[in-house]
Amino acid sequence: MSAKIIDGNAIGKAIREELRAEVALLEAKGVVPGLTFVLVGENPASQVYVRMKGKAADELKVRSDTISLSADTPEAELLALLDRLNADVTVHGILVQLPLPKHLNAGRVINRMDPAKDVDGFHPVNVGKLVMGDRSAYRPCTPAGVLELLVRSGIDPRGQHAVVVGRSMIVGRPVANLLLQDAPGGNATVTVCHTKTKDLARHTREADILVVAAGRPEVITGDMIRPGAVVIDVGVNRITDPASQSGYRLVGDVKFSEASEVAGFITPVPGGVGPMTIAMLMRNTVQAARQAA
Ligand code: NAP
Repeated sequence: MSAKIIDGNAIGKAIREELRAEVALLEAKGVVPGLTFVLVGENPASQVYVRMKGKAADELKVRSDTISLSADTPEAELLALLDRLNADVTVHGILVQLPLPKHLNAGRVINRMDPAKDVDGFHPVNVGKLVMGDRSAYRPCTPAGVLELLVRSGIDPRGQHAVVVGRSMIVGRPVANLLLQDAPGGNATVTVCHTKTKDLARHTREADILVVAAGRPEVITGDMIRPGAVVIDVGVNRITDPASQSGYRLVGDVKFSEASEVAGFITPVPGGVGPMTIAMLMRNTVQAARQAA
């Protein structure tokens, strides 16, 4: 392997350590950052994610609680709960774990949150501010984590050609916007690819920085990467693996064994972008508490 590994576990830990000092400062002013998770239904993956986020909060002395609602909760009830959380001064951040059961309109639910408490950064006000380059916005956690990985690895996107594979509202679009902003960590020339892109490999081979968020296991192979490029793999896919004890293993959207022979820098899966998402959530929550203090 020739590529340098970008270690998301280590970078995420460093960020959480920095936040610990900020939490202590807030505590000295009598402010304990508070984060409330809203979990609707019993999606096992969502339950795991909320538990992991809650554990990270505990470690940081961020107060967190989870409000679990049954899968058939009427939308009006969920919206009324958000109204109560919006009005509760001890709640600085609200996170409605997605996906929601089908009968609930995720757009309406996210819109109901106070943008000042939207630590996931999905409310249209925060999305708009991000696009406009307004730094008071909460940046969505995974895209912000991607940028932080670059910056803290000494990789400056300025003037580089960044190619983003994926245009979801959760990852691809905000990553592209952050890379495009006229600010540190930005100033790249950005190409965004999706399923209608013709000849994906032609674009990915031109990338100095390649961010892949396609949700397709190992769709980016070694021959699609320019030698020396920086490869950030956002994908997390569970594939069957009879050789593993659990019967499955996690892979990214990039074929790591090939890509790591060609790239200059690469994130592993797991241990790359994943730990950054939680670190950025903690950062947004501390920011929310600071702004409310
Ligand atoms: P998504 O909503 O399914 O979006 C995938 C995007 O990739 C779409 O824009 C799609 O294009 C594009 N795409 C799919 N296949 C493609 C192909 N063969 N060529 C070019 N573009 C293609 O997924 P997401 O929510 O953005 O998540 C992406 C991946 O990141 C998933 O594996 C997810 O599990 C992972 N993820 C990880 C974290 C983390 O914390 N590590 C957080 C969030 C997501 P169209 O728009 O044309 O359909």
